[in-house]
Amino acid sequence: MTSYDRLFIGGDWVEPSSSSIFEVISPTTEELVGSTPEAQVADVDRAVAAARQAFDHGPWPRMAPAERAAVLSKAAEAIRNDMQGISELISNEMGSPVSWGLLAQVLAPTMILDYYAGLGSSFSFDTVKDGLLGPVLVAKEPVGVVAAITPWNVPLFLAVAKLSPALLAGCTVVFKPAPETPLDANRLAEILAEAGLPKGVLSVVPAGREVGEHLVNHPGVDKVSFTGSSVAGRKIGAACGANLKRVSLELGGKSAAILLDDVDLETTLPLMMPNAIMNNGEACISLTRILAPRDRYTEVTDALVEQVRALKVGDALDPATEVGPLVAERQRDRVENYIRIGQEEGAKVAIGGGRPEGIDRGWFVEPTVFVDVDNSMRIAQEEIFGPVLSVIPYDDEADAVRIANDSEYGLCGAVYGQDNDRGLAVARQIRTGTYMVNSNIPIDFSSPFGGYKASGVGREFGEDGLELFLEKKTINLPAGYTPAV
Ligand code: NAD
Repeated sequence: MTSYDRLFIGGDWVEPSSSSIFEVISPTTEELVGSTPEAQVADVDRAVAAARQAFDHGPWPRMAPAERAAVLSKAAEAIRNDMQGISELISNEMGSPVSWGLLAQVLAPTMILDYYAGLGSSFSFDTVKDGLLGPVLVAKEPVGVVAAITPWNVPLFLAVAKLSPALLAGCTVVFKPAPETPLDANRLAEILAEAGLPKGVLSVVPAGREVGEHLVNHPGVDKVSFTGSSVAGRKIGAACGANLKRVSLELGGKSAAILLDDVDLETTLPLMMPNAIMNNGEACISLTRILAPRDRYTEVTDALVEQVRALKVGDALDPATEVGPLVAERQRDRVENYIRIGQEEGAKVAIGGGRPEGIDRGWFVEPTVFVDVDNSMRIAQEEIFGPVLSVIPYDDEADAVRIANDSEYGLCGAVYGQDNDRGLAVARQIRTGTYMVNSNIPIDFSSPFGGYKASGVGREFGEDGLELFLEKKTINLPAGYTPAV
């Protein structure tokens, strides 16, 4: 049991303004695994005031980037020292298989922290150059108080993807995790405080949508960094637009994997599968549409069904588990509803479609493959966020590219075939922010990641991810003056 009775606000664990709590229920056992106070509007106001004070008057934005980087390095080290514990905590919150979680939910955040710590010494915050009319200093300064809002599916990863660059930039942060995953957020606050983060720089306000809206609209917030659904992203983008507040949005996806006509299924499917049913299918970058050449359609679907049949479904904490339960009962309802919709639309379930046999508790859905799917069907257009794949036939390469692009989303995608040059030529035609050519690596933390179209605005990771938290100031200098930078 991991229970908190206080909120981390302004660098201290303080009495919450109300007695309302979030109970965290294990998706595997349906039992209580922890609790934490639910932040209210008054707690958010307090957190924003602390962040404002720390930004306007505190040491953090005025410290050298290398000093801020040292805090990130220490935090990475602390996470590395508790990999198993944190991975199990997250699995208990949202059902991620612990073996996958060790890498993606825990190791990856340490890599992100280390990467941004490294930028502390290599990134040029100040650049002096000869402008057209005289010398110029371009200074990159922290954007201010940041509201960081995340979903539950890769909670620590997404928090660190925002906090690492925001903190390196010198921003102060009010972080609102999702109600399902407040415990690892509190753990991150403990880790960062122990790593030496000054008071006021970070507050954590576990809360739902309404309190989140209050945070987004708060006049003390300069920038909103949001990851979540495209529905919420549109609303947040509109609210920020009305106030001319800086905003970046990482949203949903419905990514397509194109299997070219010469694809070798034996080597390709094992490469593709971890990104197709990733994190129980609860991943924005999942390759949920599998595009197969029409004349090899049966061969592809048969091979895919065998891959899915071999997946081990079970307790998220069992190291052998490959597919765990969905985050909550309502998420299982949602996924089961889509499975019904797919059948009503005329698609056929080739494997799965129900609940796994022999498991009598937990919010499990069988990994499911739909065949005879047309890309216009709702199961091919809408984000299901569960272990459900749709196999869609195509006629030729141009048709595959057309189908892949026929989506309101544009987050990720992949192409597999014998010829890398041909794969790269396909990659260049796909309207998504990230892509894989004969690869199984969807995100490189040193390179930009984000969405085209309804999948988002802005790019996290790499130097782009840091720039999201910087304002640029051009200072015109007198001729002959070269400042020390
Ligand atoms: P969601 O949009 O419902 O909620 C995400 C977070 O935003 C939660 O903390 C929620 O409380 C908060 N929120 C919701 N509406 C808000 C509002 N109007 N104002 C302020 N805060 C608000 O998303 P979800 O269903 O919990 O998460 C799954 C979604 O996240 C999927 O669409 C998935 O694709 C997306 N996602 C995207 C990425 C990415 O990097 N592009 C990564 C992970 C998840």
